Amino acid sequence: QGDEIRRLLHEKVVEKKLENKVEVVLTGCFGLCEAGPNIVIYPEGIFYSHVKLEDVGEIVEEHFSKGNVVKRLLFKDACKGDEVVPVNEVNFYKKQKRVALRNCGLINPEDINEYIAFNGYEALGKILTEMSSKEVIDIIKDSNLRGRGGAGFPAGWKWDEAYNYLADKKYVICNADEGDPGAFMDRSILEGDPHSVLEAMAIIGYAIGSDQGYIYVRAEYPIAVHRLEVAIEQARENGLLGKNIFGTDFDFDIELRLGAGAFVCGEGTALMESIEGRRGMPRVKIHRTAHKGLWGKPTIINNVETLANVPVIFQKGVEWFRNIGTEKSPGTKVFALGGKIKNTGLVEIPMGVTLRDIIFDIGGGIPNNKKFKAVQTGGPSGGCIPSEYLDTPVDFESLGELGSIMGSGGMVVMDEDNCMVDIARFFLDFTVEESCGKCVPCREGTKRMLEILERITNGEGVPEDIDRLESLSQTITDASLCGLGKTAANPVISTLKYFRDEYEAHVYDKK
Ligand code: SF4
Repeated sequence: QGDEIRRLLHEKVVEKKLENKVEVVLTGCFGLCEAGPNIVIYPEGIFYSHVKLEDVGEIVEEHFSKGNVVKRLLFKDACKGDEVVPVNEVNFYKKQKRVALRNCGLINPEDINEYIAFNGYEALGKILTEMSSKEVIDIIKDSNLRGRGGAGFPAGWKWDEAYNYLADKKYVICNADEGDPGAFMDRSILEGDPHSVLEAMAIIGYAIGSDQGYIYVRAEYPIAVHRLEVAIEQARENGLLGKNIFGTDFDFDIELRLGAGAFVCGEGTALMESIEGRRGMPRVKIHRTAHKGLWGKPTIINNVETLANVPVIFQKGVEWFRNIGTEKSPGTKVFALGGKIKNTGLVEIPMGVTLRDIIFDIGGGIPNNKKFKAVQTGGPSGGCIPSEYLDTPVDFESLGELGSIMGSGGMVVMDEDNCMVDIARFFLDFTVEESCGKCVPCREGTKRMLEILERITNGEGVPEDIDRLESLSQTITDASLCGLGKTAANPVISTLKYFRDEYEAHVYDKK
């Protein structure tokens, strides 16, 4: 419906002869998915939500022709009595800091000139003409940018390893195989700001000495794929990809590879197998990817959100970046906020903001006056965090200490009505479906765990089942080949740790 609204808005603007005054621009996601379709009118930042086709004529007539705000269409928090609150001051946005999402909802992602107008490709130009590869790597090391795909490994150290490893060919891969249920951070960045990812990949290419990049993106993201294709073409036409970029002797080009939707292909070695034309299954990891990755050559794999941070670090500087977030986890993190929460959507917060701030201030709290029970971070590889830890700052270390992970950024909120054993069963069901079957602990172990969880939630469990779950969790974590298996038991481990009484109620009281 968004497309139809945009078309009609444009038609009405032309009909009223306002096209010299008003430009209708297609953008990426504003973040507030539950309030869409949204229209934001700049420069005032007036935020209209839940816009329907029949509202368009009124917006053009009242807002553009007569200069009146159409109050009935304002987002609920954007109107305080007679006062109209601009978009960046409504509660949903106030505690956010948009770094990776800086251009999403602002620029037309299908027009390279708009990216350039917001300082796009400025970092690449400066790097190619003024800096050595080593200087580029040192800046990212100093920034302590950590991978946003899950593990939080410092990006600059990886780049340094690939830079130092001599080889005739090196590769840069963007991991856009986002697969956590309910997560759409990477998709939104690709749809809203694809050039930031292309620019970052070219910067890495220059830093490590690579002339070829691949973006591994799932085919289920057709808009992201289309916008990437448009962006790559426009970047080539403008001399920003291909031969002699910025008139220098640096060559770098990017190709897309479409994934078929296997969750395991988000794992680096499985992803490379898939690009090489084989079935996407994890490899036994003998070498570091930065030394021997794609086709046995040094390879850097960074995820979409990590990449979206790179150009802005060069534009604004290391100090600016390190002043956001915490000492050990500088910068921001994007989360897909879902579940039992009023404001469902995409949020970007400085690291160190508490779970309470995210869920109650930004997310607006729990609907229907229900009580908060837990929040699951990190998708199927993560854990459930109960209410007593709501004041935990969100960063890599703190979530790890609670038995969860940052993951790529899924955040699912649960209320008092959710059964935590059933939540663990839901995530295990997903893992069993997505296990590639290569190694026994994951292939067989997760199935056995799922059977036990199904038994328990059906009221057929026995007390020994809890011990069996604990023992299987340990074995699968210790003995699985790749990250999918090693983290598969996390939802069970964390719910057993914090909500054991619910398991016991099922097996003793047969609820
Ligand atoms: Fe495949 Fe699971 Fe083994 Fe990973 S842990 S290789 S997903 S079977």
